[in-house]
Amino acid sequence: MKNATPPSSNTVLLRGLPAVHRLVAASALNEWRSTVSETLITATTQEVLAEIRSEILNAPDIATLPTEAEIVTRIVDHLSRLEQPSLRFAINATGVVLHTGLGRARLSYAAIQAIAEAATNHAVLEIDTETGQRGSRQDHVRGLLCELTGAEEALVLNNCAGAVFLAVSALAAGREVVISRGELVEIGGAFRIPDIIRASGATLVEVGTTNRTRISDYANALTERTALILRCHPSNFAIVGFTEEVPTPDLVALAHKKGIPFVEDQGNGALYPLERWGITGVRGSLVESVAAGCDVVTASGDKLLGATQAGILLGKREPIRQIAKHPLARALRADKLTLAGLEATLRLYRNPNTARYEIPTLIYLTRQEPELRKMAQSLARGLRRVLNSSLFTVTLCNETSQVGGGSLPNESLPTVCVVVSCASDNVTVTSLAKALRNHTPAIFARIKNNTLLLDPRTLEAEEMGMVIGAFEKLQG
Ligand SMILES: *Cc1c(COP(=O)(O)O)cnc(C)c1O
Repeated sequence: MKNATPPSSNTVLLRGLPAVHRLVAASALNEWRSTVSETLITATTQEVLAEIRSEILNAPDIATLPTEAEIVTRIVDHLSRLEQPSLRFAINATGVVLHTGLGRARLSYAAIQAIAEAATNHAVLEIDTETGQRGSRQDHVRGLLCELTGAEEALVLNNCAGAVFLAVSALAAGREVVISRGELVEIGGAFRIPDIIRASGATLVEVGTTNRTRISDYANALTERTALILRCHPSNFAIVGFTEEVPTPDLVALAHKKGIPFVEDQGNGALYPLERWGITGVRGSLVESVAAGCDVVTASGDKLLGATQAGILLGKREPIRQIAKHPLARALRADKLTLAGLEATLRLYRNPNTARYEIPTLIYLTRQEPELRKMAQSLARGLRRVLNSSLFTVTLCNETSQVGGGSLPNESLPTVCVVVSCASDNVTVTSLAKALRNHTPAIFARIKNNTLLLDPRTLEAEEMGMVIGAFEKLQG
């Protein structure tokens, strides 16, 4: 049904589009009628027609309508996409180890096994096997967290934002929270420390300036209304130059002299200093915060700890128990799969070498240049084998990977990337990146200087094969 003579205006052209009922009746859609409803087929048809209308109106040089068969093929494509799970497998070739958009930490085999087992079976989640009475879901992780960090008490909630909110609600509602102006941060996804403090019913007392805060600034702000001193790690930016901040042990001493708790939102959840593996620039660790005497430390489970999404609270017995008793603790509780994955991950940390070689986050962070170069070379060889060299050129370049969620933004890791450039005008880098994102599995790369960068830091060997396969398919 191609329009041989182009009408003078696109609006006229649109009149030639087939009617919805005609398309819906197409025999090519018959096999779909047993799996999806007529309503969905009609809605999808309307959606495809709306897309075509807007494409035609937005491109004045389009002179012909798609054929009825072409439109039906598009409807079938849409329906097939609806059949796919929305939350699907993605390949992270960005080199950002903790990519929030791609689900942050990838779990260890041990954690995956533990989650599968807890999901498949019933589990002794909240039951005391000695007495048969109700137990606590915290029992599975409390002991490990205390053992590994030196804390007296621990509590695991759904995520770190919830942990900070609950800590401030339970310890400071109706009273004042003292915090440095340099730490009134936004951590992304609308987590802003000043908003959290206000929402918890406490009053924010800002001290010092953006770049410099002294111990006297804190001391002068403490009154009988002060409930606690809060420190928040500015994990996603750095204030550099003329700066000053008070060491944590000094703030702990000041708080304790006043008889109030010191709460630290450590955030990134590194268990111990990562310098032991040559990773620099990561601020703080749980072990250091506990050793400094913090009364409450909060952190994410799915950042540098490399476990499931969770809000970890550690510290002194009294304040942690007070937080656990708050009614909102129930609203923020972690589910059994979270706890199963966290427990399994924490067990790996009993032997730091096991953790280092089994937790993907730590494996990726500690990948060194020789290994990364070998991986990049192998990926480049595979891509050159399948790609038409008159359309694409494939080279290597020295680059840097980012840690993501929890390290200083100016601190990055040297890597070797595969660079794909489009040699023909018919393919653009943005359209290539889009096609990769829409591929199954979805593939995410970086775009830089009109080239596509594939960073092997966050890839597994079999994923490199899938990336090569995707390029081959997209080109063909
Ligand atoms: C990441 C982060 C949070 C938020 O943690 P979620 O687990 O994503 O809720 C809070 N505070 C700090 C310092 C962080 O780094």
